[in-house]
Order: sequence, then structure tokens, then C-alpha cells
Amino acid sequence: MERDFPRDFLAFLRLAGEIAQAQEQSLYLVGGAVRDLLLGRPNLDFDLVMEGDAPRLARQLAKASGEKVITHPRFGTAKFSRGELSIDLVTARSESYPSAGALPEVKPGIIRDDLARRDFSINAMAVNLDPPSFGQLFDPHEGRSDLKQKLIRILHPRSFIDDATRILRALRYEQRLGFKLEENTEKLLRQHKSMLNTISGDRIRHEVELILEEEKPERILHRAEELGVLQELHPSLKGNGWLAERFRHVHQLAILPSSPIYLSLLLYHLTEEELESVIARLNIVGGLARMLRQMVRLKADLPALAVADLSRSGVYRLLRQYTPEAITTCALACDLPAIRSRLDLYLTDLRYVKLSLDGEDLKEMGVAPGPRLGRMLKALLEAKMDSRVSTREEEEALVRHWIAGREI
Ligand code: ATP
Repeated sequence: MERDFPRDFLAFLRLAGEIAQAQEQSLYLVGGAVRDLLLGRPNLDFDLVMEGDAPRLARQLAKASGEKVITHPRFGTAKFSRGELSIDLVTARSESYPSAGALPEVKPGIIRDDLARRDFSINAMAVNLDPPSFGQLFDPHEGRSDLKQKLIRILHPRSFIDDATRILRALRYEQRLGFKLEENTEKLLRQHKSMLNTISGDRIRHEVELILEEEKPERILHRAEELGVLQELHPSLKGNGWLAERFRHVHQLAILPSSPIYLSLLLYHLTEEELESVIARLNIVGGLARMLRQMVRLKADLPALAVADLSRSGVYRLLRQYTPEAITTCALACDLPAIRSRLDLYLTDLRYVKLSLDGEDLKEMGVAPGPRLGRMLKALLEAKMDSRVSTREEEEALVRHWIAGREI
């Protein structure tokens, strides 16, 4: 810890341990921060577990350190933010699962209970912060040995039944860290993968989002397909080489935020009906659901973009009803260069074409407000895209020509 943590953060942890000791209670650093500390990987999220009243400790710690804290006494939690660092302080708890997939029943407990409710041995270690034993590892599930052997191991045989989100979490850590599922863990994961059906749409979607936010989500999806886990989410989903190649392309182009694009690529080959079932299963709502629906509709429109003598304004007319995100996904997914180049033309050029004249200018030139004015602006924009006009004077000349000829 001395080597890996900034000195002022270490001082903060020592102070927290001293205050806990003065309350005759014990304090621990737990979970991902301990795992990453032992692996030498950076981690900015710290979870502290207190055997006792965490919000009370947090208030005293805030007073002594001058740090700001937000406490939630009802949940026994508190949060400090120090620049990029976030520090959560919670009361140790023991959990039991009333039924598979349901949220657990929670009671205050000791650190051993708190570690026993966790997902994998490598996430179930604690570092004691009490002054006499500051820095000592508490590792009742042999997480350190699993870190050395690069294994993801559940803590008990019912783990995936109690909470099947752990199935997706296991694959996420396995691929992120370059580890392997321990043999029995893999056997139980295969055996219990259908328990994913017990998990709510929101929780599944959250885990899928976490997967898509990883450095190499394609690896996790490939592994999920290999183990039959992806098919549990929807039988038509594939984590194959096609997907991996597209994901790598998104990565190279540094498209941000990448996770909605990854999700649309994962769902690209689905029919409208299949997409609706995934949207319902993952409870996808709002702009993201709209974008996915647009993508599938646009996919059906793509052949019209392959017509050889399609004008620039013709491309614009076909695509303007779609969001740039839906078009970007189709451009990344489409295998035909002729179509792809027209999607790119829209994204990089056509959608930015602007007229010099606006509605006010047309009114001043004598066009009455109303639908005809709107049609003229549209036709003028298309004329500009097709290079029939380029300067303001040419736009005005075309409008005068339309007025005189009562055209449009
Ligand atoms: P990451 O680097 O992915 O954020 P993390 O270990 O900090 O890793 P969190 O999702 O923030 O992961 O969870 C914090 C800790 O809570 C985990 O280390 C794990 O001990 C525990 N945990 C999280 N989700 C579960 C779960 N579904 N079942 C059991 N324990 C869990």
C-alpha cells in the first residue's frame, strides 16, 4: 500500500482506521481495490467496510479530515469523493437469498460475513485498516492464491443460482484479467446459465453495459457465446469474428461513447421482431431504443443506396430521417463498399450542407410564408448538394426563377 497509494490517500486511510478504533470498531479496505492492489493495476474506486455504524464513522472522518461526505444512514452507507478517487464506506453485512435472482435480505454483520456474500475469491479479500494491524490481508477464501493461479472461482456451489449476474461478471473479469474460470466454477456456470432468466431486465442490461465498457468487449462476448451464455440473452446473438472485427474498427476510430455503438453492432443482424424481444428483455428505453429501431429499419433501406446513378441529394433524401448514430452503425456493419461510401458521404459531408439564405430572406424576396416556402428551402438545399448552386447570389437567382415561373 505504501508504494501503490498516494501519500495523502494513505494518510486518509490511517486516519479512518484510527477513528474506527476509537469507536472500538474495525475497518477494512475490500473488493476490487484489494484485488487490483495485489495485481498492481490502477483502481480509483475504493470500498471500505466497517464492522459497525459506517455513516457515524464517515461524519467523524469528514470532520477530522476536512473532506466532504454524503451519508445515507438508512442504507448504512457514505461516499467521499477526492478528485478522481471515489471512496464508499459501508456497514459490514450478511446476506441471504430468499429466492433465486431476487435481491438479497441484508443484516449487519462482521467482515467474514461480508466477504462470504461476494462473487469471486479474488474479490473477497480485505485489508485491515486498524492501527495495530494496518495493511494486513484477511483472505478467508484464498483469493490471493487464485490471483497467482489466474483463476476466477465462486465461493459456494449455489452462487450462480443466488445471483446469476455473477455469470456475466465472471466472464468480464476472466477476459479483462486474462484469467480462466476455475474448473468447478465453469462446470456450475454451464449448468446454471439458464438462471439468467431470473434476473430483471435492468440488472441484465447493467451487466451488458459493463461488458461493453471494457477494453476488449469482443473477447467477453466471444466467450459468452462459447459457453452458451449469450444465447440465454437471445438465441440469435453471436459473439463471432465478424463482431470482433467491427468492434476493433470502432476502437481504432475512437468513436465515443462506444458502448451504444457496440450494442447496436451486437444487435445488427436481428430482425425487427427479434430486436423487439431484446429491447423488452433488457428493458432498453428512450433514445437508445429509438436508435436501435432506426438501425434495423435503415438496414432494410440500404439496397436503395446501391443504385448507380443516385445523386447526392438522393442520398440525403434517403438518410435524413435517420439519426447519425443509426447511420454510423450501418456504415460500420455494412459489407458493401458502394453502400458504405454513401453512408460516409452523408455522415461527413451532406448532413453539414447549409444554405446561405434562410426563410426570412425568402420572405423578403416575396415568397409568402407557408408550405411553398418550406418546399423552396428544401429544393434549394438539394440544389446546393448537387452543386447546381454554390454562392448566395446563385441561390437568390434560383429563388427568383422559381418565383417568376410559379414553380414549386
Ligand atoms: P470493477 O473493477 O469491475 O469495478 P469491482 O470489484 O470494484 O470491480 P464492483 O462492481 O464495483 O466491482 O463491486 C464491488 C465489489 O462488490 C466486488 O469486488 C465484489 O466483491 C462485490 N460484488 C459486486 N457485485 C456482486 C455480486 N453480484 N455478487 C456478489 N458480490 C458482488
